[in-house]
Amino acid sequence: MTEGFEDSSELARKAELAELLLHAARRLGETLEPERVYDTFHELLTGVVPHDGVVVSSFDDRDDSITCEYAWVEGNRLDPSSFPPITLNRQGGGMQSRVILSGEPLVVNDVEQVVRQPGGTFYDVDKEGEMRKLPDVKPPGTKAAMMVPVKEEGRVVGVVQLMSDRTQYTLAQLEVFAGLVGQMAAAVRTVRLQKERRRLEAAEAAARAIAAERETAVQVLEAVGDGIFLLGDDGTIRLWNRGAELITNVRASVVGGRPITSVFTTWETLSPQIPVAEAGIAPRSATLPMEVGGSDLWLSISGVQSAAGTVYAFRDLTSDRRLEEEKSDFIATVSHELRTPMAAVYGAAQTLLQRGPDLGPDRSRELLEMIVTQASRLSQITEEVLLTGRLDRGEVRVLREPVDVADVTRAAVDAMREQLPEAAAIQVEIEPNVGRAAGDADRIQQVLVNLIDNAVKYGGGQVRVRVEPADGSVRVAVADSGPGIPLADHERIFEKFYRADPHLTTAPHGTGLGLYISRELVRRMSGRLELAPEGAGGATFLVDLPQA
Ligand code: ADP
Repeated sequence: MTEGFEDSSELARKAELAELLLHAARRLGETLEPERVYDTFHELLTGVVPHDGVVVSSFDDRDDSITCEYAWVEGNRLDPSSFPPITLNRQGGGMQSRVILSGEPLVVNDVEQVVRQPGGTFYDVDKEGEMRKLPDVKPPGTKAAMMVPVKEEGRVVGVVQLMSDRTQYTLAQLEVFAGLVGQMAAAVRTVRLQKERRRLEAAEAAARAIAAERETAVQVLEAVGDGIFLLGDDGTIRLWNRGAELITNVRASVVGGRPITSVFTTWETLSPQIPVAEAGIAPRSATLPMEVGGSDLWLSISGVQSAAGTVYAFRDLTSDRRLEEEKSDFIATVSHELRTPMAAVYGAAQTLLQRGPDLGPDRSRELLEMIVTQASRLSQITEEVLLTGRLDRGEVRVLREPVDVADVTRAAVDAMREQLPEAAAIQVEIEPNVGRAAGDADRIQQVLVNLIDNAVKYGGGQVRVRVEPADGSVRVAVADSGPGIPLADHERIFEKFYRADPHLTTAPHGTGLGLYISRELVRRMSGRLELAPEGAGGATFLVDLPQA
């Protein structure tokens, strides 16, 4: 009967304990900071096990140190950092050391006796946090103490001590205390893990942000039109952006890690002229002709010193430069071309004016004819310059109608024959069934007149003009027996103002616009004007016009 009663009260106690621990687990689980977990643990303890002091210590088996994490004494929460860490006493002296070494809880109801034993360091702390080493000063106020190890996967990682100045502790109280310590340890572990996870997440987010920033920087570097490269202190290329690839036509995959001289062959001589600023200062830039792959690029280039080397930025000014050159060429050519006929007109007119009556009819007529020829040359030059401007601005309208190319060719040759020097001869061959081309008869004639004029001017007189069908188009070939055109000039002669060897005194006058205008006109008829590959001698120009 009595046993039954005891059993049932034991059962009730166990149930109460289980309920308490469940409640504790719930409360502790709500806490997010380790310090708050200790406070909650202490709140849960209050009213369940009487005490005057609580100390939570952690133990680190790497250096055997025991460090205070939480301390509460007689109603006051103390700063745990004011307790110096102590070293585990492996000889088993000291109550904490004993618990850590054995991994078993300890109840001491005769603290005064224990602290007198040699082998351990005992501290007593009053409610102001004043610490005394015991028992040197005076006997401690503490009468009873309970110590429970905190374990993680079987390893002791700390100790929790509960002290009382008044009561003695029972095993039942130890059971409650140990249960709560277990719940607290689990909560601390969870909170630590969560904190660690948050730290890792934050680190990961920061790393992602840095990576994103880098990615953006790389994208910006790739998107800018300027060429940018990083030159290491050893003179090798560390970075070569898309702009640099486009300007130099040299791939990053080819130059990465190679010396800068492998791209800019004259780097050694020119680099002293490139301004290099300290980081953070906007550099001036120098415009220099840099040799890349055998040709000169005019680059506006500057550098900035960085930790990784020197960062150079460059911009291609070759076309601006060419435009500048073209402009001055244009002025020079046009003035030069205008000067000769103008001088002739002026001279002839002045002679007629001053000595008119004395000249006789033949001489007068000669001078008047000269005026007419030179004036027409003047207007031809002006026409060419104006037409070029209109072609460039897209203002020239070209018809697309069926044209009998044979007829147009005959007309062009007839027109030319009238003004041919005596030694010159034009031979015309027209294949049967040439068919008609789609285009503008007047413009085709203009192109042919220009080609025949050149053939006579540069080719020495014997000109062959041939009209033939050619693969979906009608072809007119204008061939001469002159010196031909050097391979290097094959494309350039079609450029505006380009004249092969213009300084040659024997070179006939010209603006360098004829072939440019001719090609542009033929293109507007969807045709092609090319120089035939080098043949037996002389130059052969081919005009291909689409069949109507
Ligand atoms: P221009 O005749 O006014 O100089 P073009 O554009 O017609 O201008 O010709 C450009 C250059 O091409 C000429 O200056 C000349 O050096 C070269 N050229 C053109 N046709 C011939 C040709 N049939 N034979 C040799 N060189 C030629």
